[in-house]
Amino acid sequence: MISIEIKQREHFDLVVCGGGVTGFACAVSAGRRGLKVALVERNGSLGGVATNCGVNHLLGGRKLKEDTQEHVRVVGGIFDEITDKLIAQGDAIEPNSIDLSFNPFGWYPRMASGVAFSEIALKAAMDDMCAEAGVRVFYKTDIVSVVKEGDCLKEVIVWNKAGFAALEAPYFADCTGDADVAYLAGCPFEKGRDEDGLMTPTTLEMHVENVDEEALVSYQNEHQSPKLVEIIEDLKAKGIWNFPYEIFVAIRLTEKGVFMVNTMQQYLVDGTDEVSISRALAEGRSENIRLFSVMKQYFPGFQNARIRKIYDAVGVRETRRIKGHYNISIEDAVLGKQYEDTVAATTYNFDLLDPVKIGHDNMMGDAKNPNAVRKHVVIRIPYRSMLPQNADNLIVAGRCISCHREVMGAVRVMGPCMMLGQAAGTAAALAMDAKLPYCQVDVNKLKAELYADGVKNPEDLAKIFDT
Ligand SMILES: Cc1cc2nc3c(=O)[nH]c(=O)nc-3n(C[C@H](O)[C@H](O)[C@H](O)COP(=O)(O)OP(=O)(O)OC[C@H]3O[C@@H](n4cnc5c(N)ncnc54)[C@H](O)[C@@H]3O)c2cc1C
Repeated sequence: MISIEIKQREHFDLVVCGGGVTGFACAVSAGRRGLKVALVERNGSLGGVATNCGVNHLLGGRKLKEDTQEHVRVVGGIFDEITDKLIAQGDAIEPNSIDLSFNPFGWYPRMASGVAFSEIALKAAMDDMCAEAGVRVFYKTDIVSVVKEGDCLKEVIVWNKAGFAALEAPYFADCTGDADVAYLAGCPFEKGRDEDGLMTPTTLEMHVENVDEEALVSYQNEHQSPKLVEIIEDLKAKGIWNFPYEIFVAIRLTEKGVFMVNTMQQYLVDGTDEVSISRALAEGRSENIRLFSVMKQYFPGFQNARIRKIYDAVGVRETRRIKGHYNISIEDAVLGKQYEDTVAATTYNFDLLDPVKIGHDNMMGDAKNPNAVRKHVVIRIPYRSMLPQNADNLIVAGRCISCHREVMGAVRVMGPCMMLGQAAGTAAALAMDAKLPYCQVDVNKLKAELYADGVKNPEDLAKIFDT
């Protein structure tokens, strides 16, 4: 047996594990309510996938209303606060300012609902907001274990250059994306497909600069071909395109001519397995270089382009989902089920590529796919789906809540993740006030607090989109 020496023990009211957009929203909402909050992050900046994986595009916080062509706010709260701040600074693009007939920000008008942002500015804004809320951010710190007594977490054990430390608290929030804390605490979870555990592909993001976006968009418009499918088919027939994906996906960022290339799909990667991740990183880097060379030669507008950056972290879309007090099924989502304890929502489409099947649009094409039968825009998220079994003082926010994996495909984008994070942080403050386990928090009070903080009421969204 290996023994570890705990060098330091610190006490907080709430320990938020994982400093992606979800953990950020959670920590700030709890800090603003006076809780002494620790936010633990293994990287050197906040934002998670949004910054450290290069996904500089916040989806799911605005929704295109087809009749008015307006990108309506559907998350509110901290999402709106930080995006409005970046837009005002000129560090993010207001979706309603985008000319939908010349839209380099996405493949369809609905993708223009995403807020493209500068990751430098987002990181700095998150630092500022955490500081203002009194959040103690532990950077370059890994969560490695938990101490649990019965169904109560006592502390998380972290490691950084100073050695091992214990962070004690009455309340914890798991915003790691992978439900690491719930996993370490022995809470039941699911991972991947029921039949074989396989998960949706990952992507190693590449940013490209000096793209002639006029040439690219004119080609896309003229040929009604946002994904350049016919070019790729032709290259495939000639033996030039030998990648396991058949569509071009890229988003123009805040700087003219700079694109986030989201085209690569890495199959059979497990984001919770080091061997798999190490392979995806090394292979993904060289594949991006080969992909770029083909794009430069054959894609309109890329002739003078350059690679600006290939990220050092693989973008993982799916790993563990907790088995919570309530599990959102596909039927619940498709039929727009209502709950007494709805605390968040997603209006985003089901967006989860098949783990093995390669195609032009393999998340839309199958009649069995929930997108084909979805009756309601608003998918409500009940509070109970954030509560893991066997851990009374742990709440989970982000893509790892308790839901069917197809539902996760609609939850996982950043708007709903931040809405969940804000709900988790606010719930922690109410739990702390009442000295109760998370499952006994007064949910009506929680909703009232969230709406008072500008979070959108899912029932109001349903009136806009589902009537
Ligand atoms: C390739 C790709 C493209 C995407 N495209 C879009 C898009 O265009 N728009 C959109 O809105 N969404 C997109 N998504 C989805 C979205 O980006 C993520 O689901 C969302 O950002 C998740 O946020 P999060 O904070 O919950 O998790 P994460 O961003 O994963 O953050 C979790 C944080 O926890 C930290 N952490 C994890 N485990 C530990 C540990 N043990 N110890 C210490 N720290 C830990 C991580 O370092 C990370 O910072 C995309 C996802 C991928 C992978």
